[in-house]
Amino acid sequence: MEKRLFSELGLSPETLKAVDKMGFEEASPIQTAVIPVALTGRDVVGQSSTGSGKTAAFALPAIEKVEARQRVVQVLILCPTRELAVQVAEETGKLALFKPLVREVPIYGGQSYERQFRALAAGTQIVIGTPGRVMDHMERGTLKLNALKMVILDETDRMLDMGFRDDIEHILKSVPAERQCLFFSATMPNAIQDLIKRCIHVAAAAARGTLTIG
Ligand code: AMP
Repeated sequence: MEKRLFSELGLSPETLKAVDKMGFEEASPIQTAVIPVALTGRDVVGQSSTGSGKTAAFALPAIEKVEARQRVVQVLILCPTRELAVQVAEETGKLALFKPLVREVPIYGGQSYERQFRALAAGTQIVIGTPGRVMDHMERGTLKLNALKMVILDETDRMLDMGFRDDIEHILKSVPAERQCLFFSATMPNAIQDLIKRCIHVAAAAARGTLTIG
């Protein structure tokens, strides 16, 4: 797969500065393929494993899509484990360093609700969470997804292996139909293809065109 410079992918000066500060020299193949397409608003299905640079491939378009002055949740990133949620939140925070109004928070089981309530009440725009805790917050009314623009599923195969399928389907049914969907998975078994087919809004996907990268 092709690699390009980050400056050729349509990113803003603020995120380019952050990428530079992180010491990334050129975009990895998954970043080269996903970033320009995700920036146009199309849905993306990416086959990628850990170490491919997939986190920045979805976090950079997510940061660019956030309307920083609107203090509501606009991007939801679902991850299988607390460790991954924390890691994705850290990388997202670094990539958003020069967009000071953009905030992110990891929400996961095992951490006190209080800290998560405060971050959500403060108007964080990017939420990175495990499906179970995301559902908890939705049920308590502390996580409102009515203004969501983008939903990202990271390591979808692992989430299904861990039994999160029903939670994921419930979450996806509860978010606006016109949201953009980015799916990432190391493998693409039938169960994932079914989930993708059902969860990418068919009319929207047809209109926008879904890009499959693998
Ligand atoms: P990931 O596959 O997202 O878990 O990323 C693996 C590691 O590669 C992380 O430490 C990233 O910060 C780093 N990374 C991501 N993109 C690049 C890049 N374009 N150049 C160098 N390192 C990168």
